[in-house]
Amino acid sequence: MGEMRAGVIPVTPFQQNCTILFDKDEKVGVVIDPGGEVDRIRAAIEKNGIAIQAIWLTHGHIDHAGGVMDLKDALGVDILGPHEDDREMLLNLASQARMYRLTDPVRDCTPDRFLTEGETVSFGEHSFQVLHCPGHAPGHVVYYNPAAKFAHVGDVLFHGSIGRTDLPGGDHAALIRSIKEKLLPLGDDIGFLCGHGPGGRFGEERRTNPFLV
Ligand SMILES: [Zn+2]
Ligand SMILES: [Zn+2]
Repeated sequence: MGEMRAGVIPVTPFQQNCTILFDKDEKVGVVIDPGGEVDRIRAAIEKNGIAIQAIWLTHGHIDHAGGVMDLKDALGVDILGPHEDDREMLLNLASQARMYRLTDPVRDCTPDRFLTEGETVSFGEHSFQVLHCPGHAPGHVVYYNPAAKFAHVGDVLFHGSIGRTDLPGGDHAALIRSIKEKLLPLGDDIGFLCGHGPGGRFGEERRTNPFLV
């Protein structure tokens, strides 16, 4: 098993971190949250010669899922996740795009498979546990790789901040519970990438994030 690497491509006017996780040696990987600018995402995949095995979604917001059907068609792979509690949101992507006056065409999405708490998804020999972490969005999931001490947390947790909870389906108390009861107990040494801005480590967030201390 080779080392796992991550490439981050900020996409859409929301600067959402579309993330390509891949095995450095095997050159297989997944795309997490292709929110838009699919041509740029495809160019990065081709330039690095990565065989994409699936697309994983963290939640159903437009900046994370707006390009997912176009990328699926281009790559011929399945869309996994998020939790089915975001089903409605994914069926309203085109209207989300109109609400935010986005100019790129956006299609509604039905994933090939929704995910549930505790199941495992993988690419190559890299396995990730699925954690259902509602609060920012009802069906938000986090992908946690114990062997690599790594988690992709989407919009649950940011470096020095947390996901907003003023959008439909948001729940501040649930978000804090998701972070304190599911993420932080994984350990201070877990490194994370997130949906916006730089990633970090759980320990630093536990000690210094103003929403958690
Ligand atoms: Zn979001
Ligand atoms: Zn976002």
